Amino acid sequence: MRESTLLDLPFETLRDRLAELGEPAYRADQIWRAVYHDFAIEYGAMTTLPVGLRSTLASGLPFDSPSIEATQESSDRRTSKSLLRLADGASIEVVSMHYDDRRTVCVSTQIGCAMGCRICATGQAGFVRDLSVGEIVAQVLHAARGFREHDRRLSNVVYMGMGEPLANYEATLGSIRMLNDPRGLGLGARSFTVSTVGHVLGIERLASEDLQVNLAVSLHAAEDELRTRLLPINETYPIDRLLEACRTYLAKTNRRITFEVALIDGVNDSPDHARRLSDLLRGLLCHVNLIPLNPVPGCAWKRSPNEHVDRFSSVLRQRGIPVSVRVRRGIEIQAGCGQLRAANESRETGYPDSSVR
Ligand code: SAH
Ligand code: SF4
Repeated sequence: MRESTLLDLPFETLRDRLAELGEPAYRADQIWRAVYHDFAIEYGAMTTLPVGLRSTLASGLPFDSPSIEATQESSDRRTSKSLLRLADGASIEVVSMHYDDRRTVCVSTQIGCAMGCRICATGQAGFVRDLSVGEIVAQVLHAARGFREHDRRLSNVVYMGMGEPLANYEATLGSIRMLNDPRGLGLGARSFTVSTVGHVLGIERLASEDLQVNLAVSLHAAEDELRTRLLPINETYPIDRLLEACRTYLAKTNRRITFEVALIDGVNDSPDHARRLSDLLRGLLCHVNLIPLNPVPGCAWKRSPNEHVDRFSSVLRQRGIPVSVRVRRGIEIQAGCGQLRAANESRETGYPDSSVR
């Protein structure tokens, strides 16, 4: 099993580990302050600790902060994407988005994904491994550090990067609890959004945690046959079963659920599809987020033209379903959802281009 690193450990566990070394309890406070407030990336920077302790920790409890291979910014400077290299050499991408009212980081929970969704570049590439708590936390710290450089505070974390968060449940939840801890970043539970392809057991488990985390469900279609064609998991958990889990989630948390629909030209974007979606969601505390499909390498499906997107959203609106169209953030730097594999491929021919800082 992989050895624990500093960012894997909840506060109490760190305190216990330090006690085993004969260190006083306040050492854990000092370390957490250095990591989560001063954004240190190595023990060497923790000048409040004795030098001997710093080197004991570096060998017994590695920091393993990922290295930054490259960072790209969109031309309006509101979206930035970094390529982080993990301790085992694997790489992941972290996207930070600066909106008028919030600053959000989009994190990955796995390298690749086993769900095989046809619309998703990550899904087409297959599964490599789960990320650990520390590797997820490190992505958030990287973004928080970047916002701090502009005198801003990170406000939201969305689990919408590579991987299915509820298929790596322990690490996903462990990272939320860690980032929620007031002794660390102290992000409120409502600052987190977990996006799932419809992992029903995971949704039910999350509902039982007594945490007010936001749930986003990638629905994409309101009919089983079409949804199964887009997302193979629908065979295991068909739409009725998925909505039942969503109702359980709502009953427990009372948090409005977001349903994501990637609109594909001529596949799921007709007014009839919109009507069926509104029938399905009627009466549910929810919101629909329409995302014109981002290009998927090797896939013939195309994004819906704007007229179809407008037509779809007005049908929903007329039928009383709150709807928004996701602003296409970061497309020019390939920071759109489902674009991670495309970016990886371009790296092989020399990672990315003139805008690399
Ligand atoms: N595995 C989770 C979270 C990661 S994907 C999930 O599936 O929800 C994040 C979002 O991007 C999901 O809503 C997913 O359906 C969507 N997505 C994937 N590929 C896309 C593409 N090519 N265009 C638009 N959205 C896409
Ligand atoms: Fe995995 Fe989500 Fe992509 Fe599906 S859409 S393959 S669940 S990352």
